This record gives sequence, C-alpha cells and structure tokens, in this order.
Amino acid sequence: MPEFPEATTISSQIKNYFNLTKNQPNLNHPQITLKKINIYKDSIIKNPELVNELINKNLEDVSNYGKIIYFKFNGNYWILFHLALTGALLIKEFLSPDKLNYFEKYKIIEFIFNINNEQEKILFFSAKRLFEKVIFTKDENPLKKYGPPFNRLKTIDFINILSKIKKPIKIALMDQSLIAGIGNIYAIESLFCAKISPLRKSSEITVQEYYKLYNCLKEILKESIKQRGSTISDYVDALGQEGNYQNLHKIYNKTKCPDCNSKIKRIKIEDRITYYCPTCQK
Ligand SMILES: [Zn+2]
Repeated sequence: MPEFPEATTISSQIKNYFNLTKNQPNLNHPQITLKKINIYKDSIIKNPELVNELINKNLEDVSNYGKIIYFKFNGNYWILFHLALTGALLIKEFLSPDKLNYFEKYKIIEFIFNINNEQEKILFFSAKRLFEKVIFTKDENPLKKYGPPFNRLKTIDFINILSKIKKPIKIALMDQSLIAGIGNIYAIESLFCAKISPLRKSSEITVQEYYKLYNCLKEILKESIKQRGSTISDYVDALGQEGNYQNLHKIYNKTKCPDCNSKIKRIKIEDRITYYCPTCQK
C-alpha cells in the first residue's frame, strides 16, 4: 500500500532522526555504525547471510526510490524495504508504550545503530502479513530494474514513457518498471483529477491530457507528503502515526462523484480495485 508519499514520509523522518543532511552528506555527518541486527522472523528476509558483513558498516544514506525505502552503507551494502500492505519501519524511542507493545508483536527485524560511538539508536521493521520484504544486497545499484521515480521525471519524459504503452493507463502508471512510486490510490486519484478513464489505452491519450495528468500527480503527491500519506488500513509513519491524506481522497473508496454527483464505478483492472466516475472521466 505505501506509495511514494508514504515512503518519502518515512525515509525523511528517519533521515532527520539520524541527522543525515540532504545536500551536504559529508558536512557534519555523524558516524552512524550498524552494531547489531536481531532477526525475529526470517521468512521475508532475502540474503540474510549478508548480515555479518553489514555489522560495523557505516550508514551513508536513508532515502526512498519510488515506494522502496533503503538504507545505504559504505562498501555498496544496502538494505531495501518493501512495505507492501502491513510493513512498518519504526523509530523505537518515538513510539508510545501502547504502540511499541502493538508493533513489537509483529517484529521481523531490529537494527541497533551507534552514533559517533556514544549514542544507541534502534529501528525495527514489523509486518502483520508476510507479503513484505527486507532485502540485504551488495550491489552498485540495486534499483536499476525499476523505472525512473516520478519525482525525478520531467513532463516530456513522462509522456515519452507512457505513450508507447498499449495497456490501460492505470496499469501503465502502476508498473514500477516504467515509472517508480505510483500505486493504486494515487493512480486512481490522479486519473480522476485529469478526467481520464483508467481503462483508456496509454498510447491513445493526448499530449494535453498527459500534461494535465502529470500536473495532477505532482500536486496530489505533494499534498499527500504534507499530510504524511494516506492510511487506508495499516500504514503508519516512522513514528507509528497514521497519515491524513485519506481525508482528502476524492474518489478512492467513495460512492458519489464530488464533481457531478454520478455514482462512482468500482471495477477490477488486472485484479486491482479501481474507482472512477463514468461521467467525468473519458
Ligand atoms: Zn463525475
């Protein structure tokens, strides 16, 4: 469920927590060393044999590429987090006792960091269902199989990528190998905003419509980040708090169109629930 706004919310909270400044990674950069990893459930952990190699490595960056949150360490070691439906990446000291108690029941893995050899900081990953993934990898660029993230795309590139695709626009928008970061909720909301039917073939959408869709997505994602994302069922940020953008959804999970009052259609496109207004979206 977490898409770009939710992953961005979590990764920036963790980045701030570690005082990893955005533009000047080497200036006043604290030395953040991974001291210990405790694994509680190993079924969703990929390449756990790398755990020993990661100990004593320095954390260089925390960020997200589309929906995927990552920790990058020296020596090209990475930990990637796919939050899927119920994954939560949490800063232990910021959780209330109730929340800590709740999330610890579903704890998958815990990371103990040491800051400048003085202070200890603990993060953990919890997941109720087990579709989520924690991937350890040693690679120069483990994210190369994904398309460029939407937030780094210019309008012209967005149009070039999508207009070649013969599938419905909603499917193309959500295909992470084309563009990274957009999932079901933001595809539905942005297509409504741009008045484009989710069933239209991407190759048949006009350039003007693509401009509108790009701007809608940009605005919607920006506002959602401001609201710390959308919580539909399980999503929480790194502090264990729900997002607020679900209160601003116009069409996702709604029955009546806010613009024309028509009944909203709820259909499945390639197995994913889709909402659209048959009157406004053509
Ligand atoms: Zn409508």
